[in-house]
Amino acid sequence: MPTNWAGNLTFAAARVHRPADLDALRSLVAGSRHVKALGSGHSFSDIADTEGDLVELAALPAEIDLDSAAGTVRVAAAVRYAELAAALHAHGRALPNMASLPHISVAGSVATGTHGSGDANGGLATSVRALDLITADGESRTLSRESDGDAFDGAVVSLGALGVVTHLTLDTVPDFRIRQRVRTGLELSDAVEHFDAITGAAYSVSLFTDWRAPRFGQVWLKQLADAPDPDLPWTRPAEGPLHPVPGADPVHCTPQDGEPGPWHERLPHFRAGFTPSSGEELQSEYLVPRANAVAALQALAGLRGTIAPVLQVCEIRTVAADRLWLSPAHGRDTVALHFTWIKDPAAVAPVLAAVEAALAPLDPRPHWGKLFTVAPDRVRAAYPRMADFLALAERTDPTAKFGNAYLRRLLSA
Ligand SMILES: Cc1cc2nc3c(=O)[nH]c(=O)nc-3n(C[C@H](O)[C@H](O)[C@H](O)COP(=O)(O)OP(=O)(O)OC[C@H]3O[C@@H](n4cnc5c(N)ncnc54)[C@H](O)[C@@H]3O)c2cc1C
Repeated sequence: MPTNWAGNLTFAAARVHRPADLDALRSLVAGSRHVKALGSGHSFSDIADTEGDLVELAALPAEIDLDSAAGTVRVAAAVRYAELAAALHAHGRALPNMASLPHISVAGSVATGTHGSGDANGGLATSVRALDLITADGESRTLSRESDGDAFDGAVVSLGALGVVTHLTLDTVPDFRIRQRVRTGLELSDAVEHFDAITGAAYSVSLFTDWRAPRFGQVWLKQLADAPDPDLPWTRPAEGPLHPVPGADPVHCTPQDGEPGPWHERLPHFRAGFTPSSGEELQSEYLVPRANAVAALQALAGLRGTIAPVLQVCEIRTVAADRLWLSPAHGRDTVALHFTWIKDPAAVAPVLAAVEAALAPLDPRPHWGKLFTVAPDRVRAAYPRMADFLALAERTDPTAKFGNAYLRRLLSA
């Protein structure tokens, strides 16, 4: 049985399938009682697991079809952002943003509301213009922003609950270039006082801390190539390339020398060419309204002594508000508080509880694909369109064929 990327979860599915064509996939879905698509397996929870048939789509044709006139690309679900980005770049097109790692699948990332950073950048799912999915009856349906309006906004960040997505059509933008630099030594007091100036200083900004001191040891600035260099007087230039985890070898990180380069070779933190086969880490992330950013940083700083012993690194990013019902940035400009923990679930569990208690008054939404213990009713209450999503899921999948323990735990009242 496969494991997830981090190896902290062995899937409990009864069977694993790798259909080679869409007809085989449709028959499988139609004939199965419980079925779930697995993307690239980068989630840390059991979100992709099932008690029935786990289906990997990597054996289907890896289509990437660019429509130059429309400025869109139709991509097979299992394609990873690294392959998609290289193909788009080769044709002079781009995506507005990428996550830290380019090895994740498009369908899996979209389904969990995966995001990068940037005050004006929405999560990756905001690029989705249409979805082809196989529903519980084994039929293919297309949902599009143009034709399905509000219901489409409900179907994009789906947690895999509505069907097996086979293709996604994404908006693209003209190819662009990015310069990446890293600065160091941002004191927490300056970060709090100048938060808007710092996150607004470049196209995409990430703050990193290990919380061993009240300081962000690294500020990663990904700037449009023709925009002026950001002026951050509270920081100093890094002396050489850095890995976000203090002391780790930066050899697999994207270039930080300020030289302009293609968007997809600077927006992720990690190079596409390196293949991270498994991870010695666990991850959690909580997304709070941007208005609560300073309070959230202060709450985390108050827990430094608890967090630091089990933390590899904490990253702060910003995400623009969107309309997608289950997007963690739904309806609010957002600050994302990410934690890469040591791979010791027992040691991390009480720290998660402490972090969640500290952030509870600040309207946190946990990242759907990472580890959290927030009470299900709190998770549901954090999404104003949750009732609409549950009704959509009930209509689309009345026997909960795409349900699993994760969805029952979180979404059943
Ligand atoms: C090293 C690392 C770095 C990361 N960096 C970021 C980051 O920068 N930003 C961020 O927001 N997250 C990040 N994540 C989290 C990651 O983006 C999410 O866990 C994402 O879901 C991974 O995509 P996946 O294809 O591996 O999904 P999986 O874990 O395989 O699946 C996730 C969900 O998507 C569903 N799904 C997958 N494929 C389909 C399909 N074809 N049809 C229907 N449902 C489907 C699954 O059923 C499941 O519900 C990171 C994770 C790792 C391990």
